[in-house]
Amino acid sequence: MDLYEYQGKQYFARFGIPVSPGEVADTVEDAVEAAERLGYPVVVKAQVQVGGRGKAGGIRLAANRDEARSSAEAVLGLDIKGHVVKRLWIEKASDIAKEYYASFTLDRAAKLHLAMVSARGGVDIEQVAEEEPEAIARLHIDPLDGLEPAAALALAREAGIDEEAVEGVAGVLVELYRCYVEGDADLVEINPLILTPDGRVHALDAKVTLDDAASFRHPDWDAYSNLEELDPRDRLAKEKGLQYVGLDGDVGIIANGAGLAMSTCDVVEQVGGKPANFLDIGGGASAAVMANALEVINTDEKVRSIFVNVFGGITRGEEVANGIVQALARVQIDAPIVIRLDGTNAEQGRAILAEHASDKLVSLPTMLEAARRASELARTGVA
Ligand code: GDP
Ligand code: MN
Repeated sequence: MDLYEYQGKQYFARFGIPVSPGEVADTVEDAVEAAERLGYPVVVKAQVQVGGRGKAGGIRLAANRDEARSSAEAVLGLDIKGHVVKRLWIEKASDIAKEYYASFTLDRAAKLHLAMVSARGGVDIEQVAEEEPEAIARLHIDPLDGLEPAAALALAREAGIDEEAVEGVAGVLVELYRCYVEGDADLVEINPLILTPDGRVHALDAKVTLDDAASFRHPDWDAYSNLEELDPRDRLAKEKGLQYVGLDGDVGIIANGAGLAMSTCDVVEQVGGKPANFLDIGGGASAAVMANALEVINTDEKVRSIFVNVFGGITRGEEVANGIVQALARVQIDAPIVIRLDGTNAEQGRAILAEHASDKLVSLPTMLEAARRASELARTGVA
């Protein structure tokens, strides 16, 4: 789960990371009043879960009441890469001498945490990463060892942080690492981490992705998930308790088991199709679950065909087939459906599907054939 900047900053503050005072505002009036309370200059910041707000005009400095008003008017309702701004964070403005970058995330390939620090932070960090990767210092951290202050200091120096800021940056790194580990985050990022002209080091932005698998030990996270910015497909899937990830293609995918769902996406790509989503319906494939899955896929306007890939294990083939047939009776589906059913009692299952076969319900015996047909139908539609 991703946090908004202001939530991320509140999370940072719990771990002692210095952030600026600020207030949330959902209307122009509230924004002006927040600015008056904070004292000028303030920064009016769009709260959307997408990067590059500054370049999109979503971050504005305001030196007085009139500017606070005009900035709030300009930013509220702004569309930033498809995210419409509904909430502002009004923050006391900081003076900036230098902009740095710091983050922790998991390096899955190395099976270690990865710290990244750069003296070249700010709105162009992606470009720096691409053109001058050596400008970003990296350190792998064994979770059993943690991050010692001495290692943090060495990392800050290696990143070329100015000498006067090295201790401050190292201090923030130690706190940020604690936030990442104890706070159960998958990613914590500060860009920019600034040095002020009077020598203080301070987080000016916050990107925090919490590890959903750890939510059971953080009852306070409920407050975040209620505000989460989900696309309508993701929201419905979450309500229905399905493991769903929206993608950009036109072949809707339903499979039982995460591994099979991922392979299904891969095979569709391999035959030239484009998966519209990842959807794992889990071990069983009852009519209710299948109906829910089809309903979620149905809300995706881009979907032009649906590939149902089920391998019966404990769930028997005829139950799966009956589930699919019953689900189709419950949900009105326009896109043609291609089913590959295999595993326990596959023959019985396919016989049931054969009874209901039409040009919009096709059963094929192998994953590859079914992927081909589904991709083809997405391109050409039903003949
Ligand atoms: P992003 O564009 O979505 O990453 O938003 P940020 O919160 O990182 O802000 C973008 C840029 O706006 C920063 O890199 C700063 O240069 C500038 N900025 C943000 N807050 C302040 C502030 O308090 N004072 C000044 N002078 N500039 C700021
Ligand atoms: Mn930023």
